[in-house]
Amino acid sequence: MIDKERRELFEQAKSYALDYMEGVNERAVFPDEDAIERLDVFDGALPEGPAESSEILRLLHEYGSPATVAQTGGRYFGFVIGGANRAAVAAKWLSSAWDQNSALYVMSPIVSRLEAVCERWLVDLFGLPEGAAAGLVSGTSVATICGLAAARNDILDRLGWDLSLKGLFGAPKIRVLLGDQAHSSVFKALSLLGFGLENLETVPVDDQGRMIAGRMPELDDRTIVIVQAGNVNSGAFDPIDEICDLAKKANSWVHVDGAFGLWAAASEGKRFLAKGIEKADSWSVDAHKTLNAPFDCGIVLCRNREALISAMQSKGSYIQYSRDDKRRDGMLYTLDMSRCARAVELWTTLKSLGKSGVEKLVDRLCDRAAEFAEKLRGQKFNVLNDVVFNQILVSCDTDEETEATLKKVQESGECWCGGAVWEGRPVIRVSVCSEVTTAEDIDRSVAAFVVAREGARSGN
Ligand SMILES: *Cc1c(COP(=O)(O)O)cnc(C)c1O
Repeated sequence: MIDKERRELFEQAKSYALDYMEGVNERAVFPDEDAIERLDVFDGALPEGPAESSEILRLLHEYGSPATVAQTGGRYFGFVIGGANRAAVAAKWLSSAWDQNSALYVMSPIVSRLEAVCERWLVDLFGLPEGAAAGLVSGTSVATICGLAAARNDILDRLGWDLSLKGLFGAPKIRVLLGDQAHSSVFKALSLLGFGLENLETVPVDDQGRMIAGRMPELDDRTIVIVQAGNVNSGAFDPIDEICDLAKKANSWVHVDGAFGLWAAASEGKRFLAKGIEKADSWSVDAHKTLNAPFDCGIVLCRNREALISAMQSKGSYIQYSRDDKRRDGMLYTLDMSRCARAVELWTTLKSLGKSGVEKLVDRLCDRAAEFAEKLRGQKFNVLNDVVFNQILVSCDTDEETEATLKKVQESGECWCGGAVWEGRPVIRVSVCSEVTTAEDIDRSVAAFVVAREGARSGN
């Protein structure tokens, strides 16, 4: 028997979602003040009793949709966000109906299988060592914690110290080397894992934010080196190949923070940027950034499967697990037990693009970024970085003008960019991350920059 009310409820949600998608490129990229003020409608106390489902959806659409940020439109360039692959969003609707807990094979054979397939496909796509393990997590922040936990535990294990039993107090000291401009989430991971921020050895960087390999201190087998495939500001890549060679000689562990940049490896034309990544030991990357998978989807990859599993399961000696790819227990590779079925969206995104589609997507984002930078230069903005990937750092003639222009760009509703500090000065950071951004979107955004700067100059 068809449950008529249920069908109507989901039809209503579908209709709102489609309206939203169809309007997202026309509306202001950041909600106007009116839309934000209207959010007060949500501020009431926890209701004493139940409410109508359809009424709840209406509230969400009427007051919620206008107060979203149009990250799925073509003119959002804030942070490093990425669009939402259409097929994957549709698949996510279906998988929402499935509502699978994907901790174990016995909880969801389909999610378990898709995870195993994604693992193989990603290892292939990035050109990583065969047999490397992948865990699906919420994002690179968590992926980095997982990868560095594996590194820490494996090094201590080799030294005969069972970390999960004995803890860090009194443990042999592990050195950590990383670039001066490592991402804040890396410092967070290191702090959480007990390394102590004061103990880190930072390596100087060049004018693009790349670690200088020649300035690396002596390495040894108790050292973790963290390199970056894609500086969050400039998009620059550390000299990974050179650093990995140094690390291999000393038997150090190399972790690559490749949140958005690891995808360079999937492009013939951009792979040189990530040269040498296959020599590393662990990697963190987001599918929700460059790949344009929907939120949230991060991935930790680890050359030594046992090292990752034993770190995530807090077992000093390697635990027993099923090696059967067809009965994969996804929780073994992550911090979580209960988890959403993000493998569905990841698999769908990869399936819908294929190898050539991922390559085209990466190239497209890079090409658009280059166009954007060129057109900004044409309008006498300063482009401060070498635009090697999808990131552009922009400034005006004075710091005040840069800050005022950024504010006006953000208020314009035409496009949205964030700010950053580069070499001690404020900059506008542009990240071209969405597959739907067109050449017209770039033109319209450059025009918004020009208008914003005029406003900044005239003080209006
Ligand atoms: C975005 C980003 C992170 C953090 O990733 P989340 O998915 O937001 O947790 C880490 N490193 C770099 C270089 C990033 O761009």
